[in-house]
Amino acid sequence: MIEIIQGDITTLAVDAIVNAANSSLLGGGGVDGAIHRAAGPLLVRYCRTLEGCRTGEARISPGFELPARRVIHTVGPVWRGGNRYEAALLKACYENSFELALQNDVRSIAFPAISTGVYGYPGEPAAIIAVSAMLVYEERFEQIIACCFSAGDAALYRRVLAELREQSPVQ
Ligand code: ADP
Repeated sequence: MIEIIQGDITTLAVDAIVNAANSSLLGGGGVDGAIHRAAGPLLVRYCRTLEGCRTGEARISPGFELPARRVIHTVGPVWRGGNRYEAALLKACYENSFELALQNDVRSIAFPAISTGVYGYPGEPAAIIAVSAMLVYEERFEQIIACCFSAGDAALYRRVLAELREQSPVQ
C-alpha cells in the first residue's frame, strides 16, 4: 500500500524512515537536520562509523530517539541541469533504499522527496521517479509512505500516483 501524507517525517512510527543525507552522513540542513535533531546525538556518533556514502547509495542506522526503528540514509544527486545522470542517481536512491530495507526486514517505510530541497531537483520529475519506484516495490512492503513536507508536494504526488496507476492498470 502506498500512502501519500503531508507532515514531518521525524514523527512517523514506522520500521524505517529515509533520510536525504549528504555524502558525509554527518548531518546537514532540511530533513537531514530534522532527523538528526530528533534522533539525538547518538545518531551522528553511529554515522561516523559508516564512513560516508556516495550519491545514489544507501546506509542504515538505528533510529535512536526517533519513533522510527531505523533510518536509511541515502544521498540524492544535486540537480545540475539534468544531463549529469541526475535521474539515474535519484532512481538508484529509491531502489537502494528499498533493497536495504528488505535486507533488514523493514515492512513499513517512509520517504521524503529526496533531492527536491537544497539539492534543487525539480519537483515533478523527482515525484515521477519516486512514485515509479514505490509502485515497483509496493507488493513487497506493508506500507510505503511518501511523506511530503508541503501541501503542494502532497498534491503533486497524488496526481503523479493516479497518472502512473492509470498508465499501468495491472498495479
Ligand atoms: P536535499 O538536500 O536532498 O534536497 P532537503 O532536506 O533540502 O534535501 O529537502 C528534501 C525534501 O525534504 C524537501 O521537499 C523538503 O521540503 C523536505 N523536508 C524538509 N524537512 C522535512 C521533514 N521534517 N519531514 C519531511 N520532509 C521534509
